[in-house]
Amino acid sequence: MLELYQAVDRVEAQMLKDYLDQQDIASVILGDLLSGAAGELPANIYPTLWVLEDDDLIRAKRLTEQFFSKPPVAGDPWRCTVCGESIDPGFEICWNCATPCSNDNE
Ligand SMILES: [Zn+2]
Repeated sequence: MLELYQAVDRVEAQMLKDYLDQQDIASVILGDLLSGAAGELPANIYPTLWVLEDDDLIRAKRLTEQFFSKPPVAGDPWRCTVCGESIDPGFEICWNCATPCSNDNE
């Protein structure tokens, strides 16, 4: 079992865990469980997400990065009608010449 990510709160930890569950990565949240058992704990104990299978860690880290960046955008890249650049589907304007997407793909 390897430490993956220290969350700011229980909600964030649970959201990430659910996301990893969907990707077939088994994980467990530690840290916040202690708060019910002990009467007095430092306030700076954050829930930490651990990956159960060591082999999953690298993949889990990549998924975590994705999780906290923008959500993956479905679809194909579109081509700028002005300069011909291929633009990733997450962008609505051409990064090269700032032409808005023509929506040809939708
Ligand atoms: Zn362009």
